[in-house]
Amino acid sequence: MQMLNEINNIIIAPHFKLSEFACPCCNLVMLHPKLLAKLVELRDVLERPVSITSGYRCFEYNQKVGGVANSYHCIGLAADIKVKDINLIELLGYAEEIDFAGIGFYEKKNFLHLDVRPTKRTRWRE
Ligand SMILES: [Zn+2]
Ligand SMILES: [Zn+2]
Repeated sequence: MQMLNEINNIIIAPHFKLSEFACPCCNLVMLHPKLLAKLVELRDVLERPVSITSGYRCFEYNQKVGGVANSYHCIGLAADIKVKDINLIELLGYAEEIDFAGIGFYEKKNFLHLDVRPTKRTRWRE
């Protein structure tokens, strides 16, 4: 059905569409406003596109991609991001300034996991 191509095709903040955060398998989406606000802040300081490589994940999809069982992606509190033409260490510095509660540094795969978990600040590296 043609109309389904437009599902979640809604601008929710400067430079971000809801569809970017949707689960790739089912188009369902949960997104906490605090996560979005911090990503907008990051986009603003970087002055370049922030690609969401994984936003919301339904439980099935999370299992499929090997996410941890209690992943913050499954409750709309996490996003994995890539930014072109910036060193991952430098990107990490900006993310730290914005103070995401959870930051995962994925050196080999060249992305950052960012989340707004309600518990204490957590940092990890893979
Ligand atoms: Zn799904
Ligand atoms: Zn992640």
